[in-house]
Amino acid sequence: MRFVEFKPMSFSDRNSLTLIAGPCSAESLEQLRTVAAFFKRWNAHSKDGMKVNALRAGVWKPRTRPGSFEGHGEKALVWLRNIKQEYGIPVATEVATAQHVALCLDYRIDILWIGARTTSNPFLMEEIAQALRGCSVPVWVKNPLSPDTALWMGAIERISRYSKGPVGAVHRGFGMYDSAPYRNAPLWEIAVEIKRLCPGMPLLCDPSHIGGKREYLLELAQSGLDLEMDGLMMEVHPEPERALSDKDQQLTLPEFEGLMERLVVRNTDTLSGKMSRIRHILDEVDDELVQVLSRRMQLVKELGKLKRDENFSVLQLERWNVVVARVLANAERRGLNAGFVKQVLDCIHSEAIRLQKDILQGKE
Ligand code: PEP
Ligand code: MN
Repeated sequence: MRFVEFKPMSFSDRNSLTLIAGPCSAESLEQLRTVAAFFKRWNAHSKDGMKVNALRAGVWKPRTRPGSFEGHGEKALVWLRNIKQEYGIPVATEVATAQHVALCLDYRIDILWIGARTTSNPFLMEEIAQALRGCSVPVWVKNPLSPDTALWMGAIERISRYSKGPVGAVHRGFGMYDSAPYRNAPLWEIAVEIKRLCPGMPLLCDPSHIGGKREYLLELAQSGLDLEMDGLMMEVHPEPERALSDKDQQLTLPEFEGLMERLVVRNTDTLSGKMSRIRHILDEVDDELVQVLSRRMQLVKELGKLKRDENFSVLQLERWNVVVARVLANAERRGLNAGFVKQVLDCIHSEAIRLQKDILQGKE
């Protein structure tokens, strides 16, 4: 595959982090004024010169389930235009169709982003890209819902082919069968890969949509920065508990300020910076190991109950021999040491037998 050359970014000073923050949805002019006034004050005294570069607010909300709040549409574009004029802060919103792009250009919205559900659809991406022909408005492309680097790259390439403006990427996690405790699995390796594929392109971390709950935002934002991402997109709301969308993941204004104060911007070029990068990925892999073990033991218990009901014995050696052979062949294909994998399997097997014995003896 040939990747387009990425245009240099001009969202903000390359030496500082880009920060886009604001409510999930634009709910009223008052709500946006409260947030904008807060950012203006915060920008004037924040530590290390960190600044909110743009206020985000969704105007058209792509909802997974029907019947939820779908945004105020064009009316909210008028609010955003007012905010920009009143507070002098650039405004950003999500576009999901060519018509959205045309309206945002009419209202002089400063920055656009493409949501995860839209990035996943090449037909929509092509239409949006064509609507941006010759435009210089910056566009941030969120990752698609599925962990598919090529789909993400494809969306970025389509925008870059038509638009004259800067293009960046936003990592917002991936929809997985089991992403606990987060709303979306970070799969940090994919974010690292997209940076490797397009070294000149800025990448933001969106801890709000990864975490899904405000308690995870600090650790996720920190991981994003430690992995050399170029900034953050975050959801901030004056009263999250009354938000019309994504209420559990939006920070209050003081919480946003507190989080920013606790974030550490490390030098990622140092040895400890490089180690901490790898450790974030290792932590995620360890969490995946626990998820997989827990799923396996759940299934083992289900099987144990069937064995109990049908009066089967716990140990069925023939079946276990087949399992071992199959797993060892797979391990070999992946270059893993057979002795090590066999030891892990034995350990898992003895725990499975213990659990099933308990079930057969009526302890569970
Ligand atoms: C959003 O930013 O509010 C949004 C809908 O994000 P995503 O596309 O990442 O779900
Ligand atoms: Mn949201």
